[in-house]
Amino acid sequence: MAEQEPQQSVPLALPLPWQESLWQTFISRLDQNRLPHAMMLTGATGIGVERIAAALAQRLLCTAELSKYACGSCKGCQLIMAGNHPDLSTLEPAEEGKAILIDQVRDLMARLSKTAQQGGWKVALISPAETMNINASNALLKSLEEPQGKTLLILLSYRPSLVSATIRSRCQVQSLPLPDQAQASRWLAEVSGDAQLAEQTLDIAGGRPLLALDYMQGDSLQQRQAFEGTVEQVRRGDLSPVDAAQQCHRQNSDQLLDWFMNYLHRLATGELQNSPNPALFDFSDKLRTARSWVLSGSNINPQLLWEELFMDWLQVFRRRGG
Ligand SMILES: [Zn+2]
Repeated sequence: MAEQEPQQSVPLALPLPWQESLWQTFISRLDQNRLPHAMMLTGATGIGVERIAAALAQRLLCTAELSKYACGSCKGCQLIMAGNHPDLSTLEPAEEGKAILIDQVRDLMARLSKTAQQGGWKVALISPAETMNINASNALLKSLEEPQGKTLLILLSYRPSLVSATIRSRCQVQSLPLPDQAQASRWLAEVSGDAQLAEQTLDIAGGRPLLALDYMQGDSLQQRQAFEGTVEQVRRGDLSPVDAAQQCHRQNSDQLLDWFMNYLHRLATGELQNSPNPALFDFSDKLRTARSWVLSGSNINPQLLWEELFMDWLQVFRRRGG
C-alpha cells in the first residue's frame, strides 16, 4: 500500500425517501434565500439525520444552478467527492465517546472567518452537538451570535436536551421523526434484497431503518441476540449478575443500554402487556440514568455498572415472586 494515506473519496449523499418533504423545504428556503445561519437537525440515531445534513451541505457547495441535489460534476462536487472541499468543515470528537473541545471550535471559527475559497457557501457540520463540552459550547456561541453571510452551521444532535439551551435557541431546530414504517420497510427491503428479514429487523431496530440495515449487514444482530439471551438468563435466574456483567463489561455500554431499553419496551408492550409490572418502569429509569452517565463520559467501572444493573434486573421479577 502507499505510504501516504490517500484522501478518502466521499460519495455524494442523497436524502432518504422519508426525508423528501423536508428536503423540499430546505431547497425552497435556499432558492428564496431564507436559509438560517445555523440549524440543528435532531432525531434518533439510525434514521439518517447525518444523511440529509450531508446532502444539504453538498448541495450548498455544488455550483450547478437549479439542481435539486448536488450535481456530481461541477468543481464544487468534485472537491467534495475528493474529500477536500476547502469550504466544508466537519467538527466531531477526535475519538468516539470523547468530547468536542474548545480548540476544535476555535479552529473551525478561524476557518469560517476567512473568505470562502471557492467563492460560494461555507458550511460546517458539527456532530454530535451534544458532545461539545461547556467551553466548546461557549466558544461556538460567539460565532452563532455574529453570523456571517453565506455561512451555514449544521448541528446534528441525537440528544438535543444535552445541548446547551442557549445554543439551541440560536439555531433553527428541525426534528426528524421516525420514518413511516411502510416506507422504511420498503426501502430496507430494496436495499437489502430480503423483504421478509427486512420487516423483522426493522422491528428489532425500533423502526430505525439505517440501524436495521447495519444489523442485516454486520454481525451486530447476532451480538444483540446474544445480549438479549444474557438478559433473559438473568431474568430466569440461570445466570448470576456477576457472570452476566463479566460477559458485558468489555462491550460498548451505550449500545448495550440501548438494546436493553428496546428489549424492555418490547417486553412491556408484548409479553407483559396484560400484567404491567411497575418495577419495570423503575428499572427503565435506571437504564436511562446509566446511559446518561455513560454518555457524559464519567469514569465508570463497567463491570460494577453491569453487576448493579443485572442485580436490579433480577429484583424486578423477584419482587413479584418470579
Ligand atoms: Zn455540483
